[in-house]
Amino acid sequence: MVGSVHPAYEAVIGVEIHVQLKTVSKMFCGCSTDIAEAPPNSRTCPVCLGLPGALPVINRRAVEHVLATGQAIGATTPEFTRWDRKNYFYPDLPKGYQISQFDLPLAANGRLAFETSEGTVIVGIRRAHLEEDTARLIHASDADGRRVSLVDFNRSGLPLMEIVTEPELHSAEQARRYAEELRALLVACGASDAAMEEGQMRVEANVSLRPHGQEAFGTRVEVKNMNSFRSVERAIAFEIERQARALDAGETISQDTRGWDDERGVTYVMRSKEDSHDYRYLPEPDLPPLRADPAWLAAIAAGLPELPAARRSRYREAYGLTPYDASVLVADAGASDVFEAAIAAEPGVAPKAVANWVTGEYLRLAKQAGPDAEIGPALRVDGAELGHLVRMVTEGELSSTNAKQVFERHATTGEPVTTIISDLGLRPIDDRDALMAIIDEVLATNPAAVADVQAGKTQVVGFLVGQVMKATRGQAQASTAQALVRERLGLE
Ligand code: ADP
Ligand code: MG
Ligand code: ZN
Repeated sequence: MVGSVHPAYEAVIGVEIHVQLKTVSKMFCGCSTDIAEAPPNSRTCPVCLGLPGALPVINRRAVEHVLATGQAIGATTPEFTRWDRKNYFYPDLPKGYQISQFDLPLAANGRLAFETSEGTVIVGIRRAHLEEDTARLIHASDADGRRVSLVDFNRSGLPLMEIVTEPELHSAEQARRYAEELRALLVACGASDAAMEEGQMRVEANVSLRPHGQEAFGTRVEVKNMNSFRSVERAIAFEIERQARALDAGETISQDTRGWDDERGVTYVMRSKEDSHDYRYLPEPDLPPLRADPAWLAAIAAGLPELPAARRSRYREAYGLTPYDASVLVADAGASDVFEAAIAAEPGVAPKAVANWVTGEYLRLAKQAGPDAEIGPALRVDGAELGHLVRMVTEGELSSTNAKQVFERHATTGEPVTTIISDLGLRPIDDRDALMAIIDEVLATNPAAVADVQAGKTQVVGFLVGQVMKATRGQAQASTAQALVRERLGLE
């Protein structure tokens, strides 16, 4: 179903993405954001527990991340912004309201360009604002088998940035590619690790259909609970198809929030949608409005890294990579680091050869090591070592089969490739006498093939060279082995 297009309707999609910002402490208190291994409710204080009388203090780093993201997407920063209380009642929200931003977000009217199978797409980004995360609810059973809901406040008050697009995306693929590009940008800016599997990046898609040529939007459905880019695409494709069928059957679409069931591959109704006025947004009286000082903004601009789009064109132009290779490398922070370090260490090696190793072997191993290998210690690849290895392969000092074996061990142990090569006895055999001795042995054990060659079937030489390569476990240089076999058979 993915990618299918219903001919009668145009899909209209707007995406809301929440990302956890990379800070040491929470949004409005000094509690640690390092909650992955922490026992429940151990990262809490009166502020993030919402106790009466506790006062919030703004985390400067979190604000800087949103300002930097805003600059990276060409958004404008208002002269001053303020905080608002979004009121609703739910057990994950201890104060009964969430501190967020309503009409004066830190970034507004940006855009992001990304590549799809149908070319470049630019989507408008309506806003990016700061807010605090809620607590986590755990639904379980107690000792007597009664259903209970437990609350872990470690997540309460973590800094979140919400980024909202205009309703300008028109396919499931576009929405997935937008989310992937935004992730690459956030990781490059250091704003977030944005690991979807860890809940550091949560994607919600608003999906509606309208007949082709109609300007007015159709009723939208909000889809949640997609925990991978693949699910984002599948869920939206499913929703487009579901709505098209309903409209074809003369039904009306109800403005619901639906969840994605990855196993069954369907969306289901979670609740009917609240309108935004239900939240009774009110200015937050405990926090001062923020003024963005021009010098501060200039310092943030100066600190912006090379963004993914610029990096992709540099890879194409400076290294002659294909658009595909460039985008695969840039989409993965670890892969592009390894690629650049390899090129820097071995400037004589063809970038295309290095790119093949990174998009092939490196990413294969990274995938095996787990979804977060690029931010964890799982793979121990040193780019300079890879550069060295690729040079040896290019110069015929090591067969590519052996090099793969060496690289795999380097990736897990971090040992230098030269150490691994000596350890495995993979030093190339370039000694003429040693190689001739092996060739003589191969010729002696294959008398029929030798007779064929002497009867004029010179194509059988290839078979004999293959036997020599096998006998040396790939340590001989194929061209040398070929020349010596021909010499021995008197073909030269
Ligand atoms: P809310 O805050 O209630 O979710 P917003 O009006 O801020 O609603 O819109 C949220 C997202 O929904 C935005 O990304 C917007 O582009 C998108 N959106 C709004 N209307 C539609 C529509 N008819 N079809 C698809 N997406 C829409
Ligand atoms: Mg919404
Ligand atoms: Zn706290």
